[in-house]
Amino acid sequence: MWEIRRRWGGGGFYPAVVRDLLALPKAHLHVHLESTVRPGTLAEFAARYGVVVAPVPSRFRGFRDFADRNSVVRGCVRSAEDFRRVAVEFCADEAAQGTRYAEVTFTAASHGDRVGDPGMPLAAVVDGLRVGQREHGIVVRLILDHSRRRPVGRLERTVELACRYEEVVGVGLAGDEAYPLAPFAPVLRAARSAGLRLVHHAGETAGAASVREAVEVGGAERVGHGFRAVEDREVVAMLTDRAIPVEVCVSSNAVLGLVGSVAEHPLPDLVAAGVVVTVNTDVPDVTGRSLAAEYGVLRSVFGWDDDAVAGVARAGVAASFAPEPLRRELLAGIEAWRR
Ligand SMILES: [Zn+2]
Repeated sequence: MWEIRRRWGGGGFYPAVVRDLLALPKAHLHVHLESTVRPGTLAEFAARYGVVVAPVPSRFRGFRDFADRNSVVRGCVRSAEDFRRVAVEFCADEAAQGTRYAEVTFTAASHGDRVGDPGMPLAAVVDGLRVGQREHGIVVRLILDHSRRRPVGRLERTVELACRYEEVVGVGLAGDEAYPLAPFAPVLRAARSAGLRLVHHAGETAGAASVREAVEVGGAERVGHGFRAVEDREVVAMLTDRAIPVEVCVSSNAVLGLVGSVAEHPLPDLVAAGVVVTVNTDVPDVTGRSLAAEYGVLRSVFGWDDDAVAGVARAGVAASFAPEPLRRELLAGIEAWRR
């Protein structure tokens, strides 16, 4: 649990405790299931279906470049057993990095259209998550996303699918944020009335105005990414006034070419401005970073101490849609980690 590192300081030689980030109980709020497929599993699927998947570049030429490769990866997951396996392996890999609760995003209706069986992908994923949660001692819930480029009718089908399983806690818009959110607003309101939570991607590929749109037009209770809110002081004020958390994914933004580098990411500015910041992976298959590794970035790149790291872990739990007893348990676990 503890790694003891010796270092010089204060004129003496003393042990400094470096707390193990794997042991920090973490809530993972922004990660796409299709972007968690293990390299070995993907290679197996690709070989079986005769698909050639391009290697991951060190840096994509923007979101579209990433999305093109990502659609090839998604196309490698076809049978119910494939979807089920990806879900079980997700639970194993998350549990191994100290994630105790995850809300994983899945584009259920899109996969259903692709494989010609509307309900199969989600049913198989739910089945896999039930097995994985039991085997690996983790709690996982689902958020179904819908690309803004796709028709409103598919969002309606997404909401219908979401209502089938208690494991699905929310729905949200994703994809290219240049597409307006307004056409989807009536369906989103209906989803909220049906008890689903709303979490939209915004402020990733589009600017601060998209964050305002996600909240004011789309009813977002959390914002996926949202880092470009820093471009507009009034949008930052809106987030802080309403205590709307943002799901920051530092390495993803760097690898997709949306920020110059990890070190140039405005995460510290968001925190300094009082925005509720949570830390997430988004697309670990292309960043190569687990959630624990993303927390490691807070230390190694931004120079955070353990109190600050514990603070962002608490924010993740508080911003989650986990049931209250689990939230209390995780918060107590974070306090125990700090002591
Ligand atoms: Zn995302």
